[in-house]
Amino acid sequence: MDINHPDSITALMKETGALQEGHFALSSGLHSGHYLQCALFLMYPENAALAGSLLAGKLSDPRPSLVVSPAIGGVIIGHEVARSLGVPFIFCEREKGSMKLRRFPSPGPVGYVIVEDVVTTGRSTLETKNLMDDLPGTSFLGAGCIADRSGGMTGLGSDLVSLVSFDFPNYSREECPFCRKGVPLSEPGSRRLSP
Ligand SMILES: [Zn+2]
Repeated sequence: MDINHPDSITALMKETGALQEGHFALSSGLHSGHYLQCALFLMYPENAALAGSLLAGKLSDPRPSLVVSPAIGGVIIGHEVARSLGVPFIFCEREKGSMKLRRFPSPGPVGYVIVEDVVTTGRSTLETKNLMDDLPGTSFLGAGCIADRSGGMTGLGSDLVSLVSFDFPNYSREECPFCRKGVPLSEPGSRRLSP
């Protein structure tokens, strides 16, 4: 298996159950024939190390001196990318709705990259960028993720690199072909249940 080929990452995602096919209600309320739970791929440290080194390769020019990730999803893969690049890693987290660098001091003059597990709308990547850009001396060098399922709609353009990109169609309940066929519906990762 050519580990550099996007199909290999996709195969590992299927093997670990991170990428599932069926009939799913997403946290947005839309229905989809695919569900991606990257944590199931990253629960195997060798997968995290592989994805981290591949992503580091895509984010090494210009060379960053810091990796930043939004918690929780970006933490494992961000740390692996930082390990591969030989640079420090920090993470930001949401506090009362907005991204904060709660546990780390302002990094000073650094070129940084943002690393995520999955980019769907690009919202948390952009919030992380806004947070970092407000700190004195920082400069944004790019962003990377394991899986890009944004369909290019993030506003980050070529600043976002990924190991795999998926273009899964989502449907409203009324238009969902799986509902129409009577395929049983699963509701994974129901964020709606949390306050
Ligand atoms: Zn449906």
